[in-house]
Amino acid sequence: MKLAIIGGGASGLIAAITAANQGAEVTIFEKNDRIGKKILATGNGKCNITNLYQDIQCYHSGNLDFVMEVLNQFPVTETISFFETLGLILKNKNGYIYPYSEQASTVLDLLRMETYYQRVKVELETTVQDIRYENQKFTLSFRDNKKDKTSFDSVILSTGSMAGMKGTTANNGYEMLERMGHTIINPYPCLVQLKGTENFYKAISGVRCSAKVSVEIQQKIVAEEEGELQLTDQGISGIVVFQISSFVTKALTEHKKVWVHIDFLPDMDLENYQKFYKIRLLAQGYKTAEEFFTGLLNKKIILLFLKLAGLKSEDILTMENENLFIQVFQMMKDFKIQIHSSGGFEQAQVSGGGVCVDDFYNTLESKFIPGFYCCGEVMDVDGICGGYNLQWAWASGYVAGYHAVKKGISRDTN
Ligand SMILES: Cc1cc2nc3c(=O)[nH]c(=O)nc-3n(C[C@H](O)[C@H](O)[C@H](O)COP(=O)(O)OP(=O)(O)OC[C@H]3O[C@@H](n4cnc5c(N)ncnc54)[C@H](O)[C@@H]3O)c2cc1C
Repeated sequence: MKLAIIGGGASGLIAAITAANQGAEVTIFEKNDRIGKKILATGNGKCNITNLYQDIQCYHSGNLDFVMEVLNQFPVTETISFFETLGLILKNKNGYIYPYSEQASTVLDLLRMETYYQRVKVELETTVQDIRYENQKFTLSFRDNKKDKTSFDSVILSTGSMAGMKGTTANNGYEMLERMGHTIINPYPCLVQLKGTENFYKAISGVRCSAKVSVEIQQKIVAEEEGELQLTDQGISGIVVFQISSFVTKALTEHKKVWVHIDFLPDMDLENYQKFYKIRLLAQGYKTAEEFFTGLLNKKIILLFLKLAGLKSEDILTMENENLFIQVFQMMKDFKIQIHSSGGFEQAQVSGGGVCVDDFYNTLESKFIPGFYCCGEVMDVDGICGGYNLQWAWASGYVAGYHAVKKGISRDTN
């Protein structure tokens, strides 16, 4: 059984190992000069392999039931035992699983070793340009006038996405899938910083604080997250922003207006917060506006809010300007910014959108072309931060590799 894998990233590598382990003759075609390059960048070089906590809410897709059906075939326990079998020692940090060495290169080294031991052929600097299916066999053609390769019984496409790629915006995996009759849901960057329309960001850039952020689209709050917020010179960033970013970037691709509400006092409920500011207004009336708010939030934010409310630093609270002081309090609890764009694919960790999962069976075989499989990020599945995107890559890669061979063998024996 001859299997071609297009793309030697996380999902393609596990697909190759799984398939070769079942006796298939596997070749990985990889356009880079080495396999698994992106794995090295994961988890800030430490590689957050997976997460013990799994819930469907941690993933986004046009069809979450489908995602669950695939993930359930290779759950986290399988990921852990797969890597332990390769010899990887793991570290559990509150459910976030890393290599014990805290080096992403360890994960890649072990995957690379296993492809070698399983006799997987790897053709580097080989960009697949087209896939043809005739008489139940696949032929691949390549860029740079490389000679076509014929007679594959099965093909797995695992070309990933444009996320995290410097200077390149194209991923021809989508084009090949489209030519074969599959639907592509416009890809958009996820786990990425967001850029606001307002012109004050330079003044608050560099601030890190606890906050709750909520996404408003068409008068509805569609996502909420609490954690550390980072303010940049163009907008907002940090894990808390990454986690909501897919809702924002997806809506922006649909040309919807998107607002983010920031609650800078997340541990104060509305009632307590109203009591708090009334008491403060009564007790602190003799102080200047800047002194009045000192210590509540980072100074850069306080100075911005005073300016936005129309107060000067030296203003003293009076009956006439009390409303402006209240406005500053209100901004602390609900500061609304409009988002116009994101850091784009270059700064994104993953891509939303991709090939429509409804075009595939839960074995990851195409409904249109028998023997053709897909896995990893090229599919319309993305996860939140915390090891979920790699879990999808491992699980979908395993499922595609396993079923491609199983089906190939049963075809040969019939
Ligand atoms: C900075 C960063 C940090 C991240 N950190 C984490 C983390 O800690 N935990 C986590 O779960 N996820 C993390 N992710 C996401 C995770 O890395 C990806 O979701 C995962 O690598 C996707 O695997 P894949 O196999 O689908 O794609 P990729 O790993 O991107 O592999 C695709 C491969 O296909 C090759 N290719 C593309 N087109 C062709 C072609 N036509 N012919 C031949 N080869 C081709 C590419 O060169 C590439 O090697 C991070 C991502 C980034 C960018």
